[in-house]
Amino acid sequence: MVQSAKPIPSTWCPGCGHFGVLSAVKKSLGELKIAPSNTVLVGGIGCSGGIHNFFEVNGLHALHGRLLAQAVGVKLSNPRLTVIAAGGDGDGYAIGMGHFIHAFKKNASILYILMMNETYGLTKGQASPTAPLGFEGNVERPFDGILTALSQDVPNFVARTFSGDPRTMGRVFTEAIKFNEEGGGFAFVEALSPCVTYNDTYKSWRERVVDIATLPGYDPSDRKSIFRLYLETQERGKIPVGVFHRRVPSAAPPESLELKLLPDRTGPAEADITLGANLGSYQKLLSIVT
Ligand code: SF4
Repeated sequence: MVQSAKPIPSTWCPGCGHFGVLSAVKKSLGELKIAPSNTVLVGGIGCSGGIHNFFEVNGLHALHGRLLAQAVGVKLSNPRLTVIAAGGDGDGYAIGMGHFIHAFKKNASILYILMMNETYGLTKGQASPTAPLGFEGNVERPFDGILTALSQDVPNFVARTFSGDPRTMGRVFTEAIKFNEEGGGFAFVEALSPCVTYNDTYKSWRERVVDIATLPGYDPSDRKSIFRLYLETQERGKIPVGVFHRRVPSAAPPESLELKLLPDRTGPAEADITLGANLGSYQKLLSIVT
């Protein structure tokens, strides 16, 4: 159930990277003048998923790994809403992996902010799918969500930002929400958001992040060249951030799920359910079943 409730004080540890994400989301929604009543934030399971409790917004706390399915459902119920899904890498890249891939395929105009910290903070610091080799005995190579996102041949929006730079993060969220408002399709932003209690990566990430837009050959409309640029940057020990891919409006019309299914942008949540508007349909239905 979607509920609008008064915000409660944050339960996050002091210094958690999620505060940067929270501040950037609030700033973007404020800049775009999107009212809380027109916004639904679907939270996943984990520390990050509580974000909708900490500011004034309609919030839905989803099942573990299922936040994208629920966010797409909210969008299709009323495409005029701004819908944001926010959860962690343990939620999105492990139990939620099937929904993650299918969110690209479905291509509904929602923003998915995946708060990545390489660990399961809520359950006290186990290795998550993005944990580096050796972290808490991890013997598996880390999963790369950006490369997976870029591999999907869908005209969408793919970016990464760092919560140590909330101003840039806010700019990226604003661009992503505008992309959604145009009916552009799925916007995926991986937010590097350190867990200061179990895996404090602030210093290391701050030293290594590189804005991909500053590199020679940067072209967010060319998926192949961005793929190569991303890999080359990683091979130099750096962490690429910025907007990696963005559908070019002049090259292709938007093909989001809600525009295909609900071209007049009116969803079932806005349907007139008064008796007067539906009497004819009820009578027709009764004549069929009796
Ligand atoms: Fe943030 Fe880690 Fe604390 Fe969770 S445990 S609130 S991720 S610092």
